[in-house]
Amino acid sequence: MKIPRQHIEKRMARFNEICRKSGAKLTHQRLEVFREVAQTGDHPDAETVFKGVRNRMPTISLDTVYRTLWWLKDLGLIKTLGPPRERARFDANLGRHHHFVCTQCGLTRDFYSEKFNKLKLPESIQSMGYAEMTQVEVKGVCRQCAAKEKPGE
Ligand SMILES: [Zn+2]
Ligand SMILES: [Zn+2]
Repeated sequence: MKIPRQHIEKRMARFNEICRKSGAKLTHQRLEVFREVAQTGDHPDAETVFKGVRNRMPTISLDTVYRTLWWLKDLGLIKTLGPPRERARFDANLGRHHHFVCTQCGLTRDFYSEKFNKLKLPESIQSMGYAEMTQVEVKGVCRQCAAKEKPGE
């Protein structure tokens, strides 16, 4: 899923600014890895980012892509979804949002809800720690997978 051009441009501008401010070297590889995440709403994993970047930079290695993605996360330019580090997915949408996740194919889409932003948490949370923010994950079956389940309908 391509996202609107003006969003991509805003993300690339933020990338340039944060690299400059942090004194990080702005290499072509770093730029292309970030662009790959910034131009999609697909929340790709490292392998998918690698495949996309490799089309433009055949010499890049999966290892470089991994390291660059975690470097981008440390700079606060992208976020990760879910805890398992090996299969992490990356998200360049830093705005407050929630996710719809397809349990069949893993498709992940952003959605927005003022109501969910203000969800009242159960008191039991306090015994676990303190909450910083709430992000809702809706699990379901995406339209494409649903269509495959019921052919002809
Ligand atoms: Zn699906
Ligand atoms: Zn997202």
